[in-house]
Amino acid sequence: MLLLLPTSTYRTRDFMEAAARLGVLVVVASEEPSTMERLAEDSLLTLDFLDAPGSAAKVASFHERHPLSAVVSVDEETAVVASAISQNLGLPHNAPEAAMRARLKHVMRGVLEAEGVPGPAYRVLDTGDDPRHAAKQLRYPAVVKPVFLSGSRGVQRVNDEEEFIRAFEWSRNFLSQPDVRKRGGEYASVILVEEYVPGAEVALEGLLSDGKLEMLALFDKPDPLEGPYFEETIYVTPSRLASKRQNEIVEVTTRAAAALGLHHGPVHAELRLPPERAPQVIEIAGRSIGGLCSRTLRFGLGLSLEDLILRHALGRDLSDLERQADAAGVMMIPIPQAGTLEEITGVDEAKATPAIEDVTITAPLGRPLVPLPEGSSYLGFIFARATTPAEVETALREAHQKLRFVIS
Ligand code: ADP
Ligand code: CA
Repeated sequence: MLLLLPTSTYRTRDFMEAAARLGVLVVVASEEPSTMERLAEDSLLTLDFLDAPGSAAKVASFHERHPLSAVVSVDEETAVVASAISQNLGLPHNAPEAAMRARLKHVMRGVLEAEGVPGPAYRVLDTGDDPRHAAKQLRYPAVVKPVFLSGSRGVQRVNDEEEFIRAFEWSRNFLSQPDVRKRGGEYASVILVEEYVPGAEVALEGLLSDGKLEMLALFDKPDPLEGPYFEETIYVTPSRLASKRQNEIVEVTTRAAAALGLHHGPVHAELRLPPERAPQVIEIAGRSIGGLCSRTLRFGLGLSLEDLILRHALGRDLSDLERQADAAGVMMIPIPQAGTLEEITGVDEAKATPAIEDVTITAPLGRPLVPLPEGSSYLGFIFARATTPAEVETALREAHQKLRFVIS
């Protein structure tokens, strides 16, 4: 099995452990040339994930020597290249065009609108446009965002013309930074503006098999996400929404996946629930949940989400695997301010909070912390498990209170 591991992923360990449990031989592909590559030619590959055809050709020649039975993208950034590689090898996959449609937010918007899937009204602008002119034609509040990033990077709410002009100019500058530009390529000149959709937000985690969506978990996001930036914090499952609303969410997500042409493998969707209206698709991607959030999920007799994804990629039967019935949740610990992370205290106290399973600090000490809108990482993750979603939410907040971050 080939695992595509982007440098920025948090999930290497969880996927490697799942592969070890399954007993499959793993070949790891990463972007950085590994000093080990020449010593371990059978198990390490270096690929340029931005070059899908080149990566597909390199893997095809590897496949002649070491036949692969599955290709798994562990994160957002590798979804497109994974589909190109799978297609080339004749393995089940989403069409590369579908993966691309899901990855580029303005393309996704166009497809969903054309297929009548509920979502915000939008306009596609170019960094060369005059924001003063565009400002007059928009309705407020609106959301300004880049089209190729994730983790809410560069996503900003604007409430009037003046805020829009400021956010547009900020975006133009942000998108011209060399590292951002390199990642975005031609799409670094696109700025997407959407109608701001009010209401609660949920995240749906699912698996597609031959286009059939199986919902693995529905997460509520109990913290209000009203901007100006949209820092993810708490996710709790199962959802406390009425089952009728949950069914609507599954239905809209199924239609969104079909519209984009996603039909195989993990799917992660975010929807907003404006009162009295259908669930609105904010985003749908052919990948699983990011960060370390998958650690909240347990299936059957204790399988992880990564176990499920690998089994699914190998074509194994997953029909009797239900999410375990307890409630679980995660807090992505927000970055309180920019600066250098000097010290973290209270981790043991936080871990000792009832219902808290673990507190994992991922930000290294002595390094700069970059908050939203430009930042792209978290301080760490708090995990809770209890009988009810309310208990989980309370435990996450209590544990977070006990943490102290010294930032200089
Ligand atoms: P990313 O890929 O960076 O996560 P998203 O488009 O998913 O970008 O936006 C991040 C967050 O910003 C969403 O989870 C949501 O809370 C908020 N958001 C984005 N677009 C809208 C919108 N049109 N209306 C309301 N909130 C939005
Ligand atoms: Ca998102």
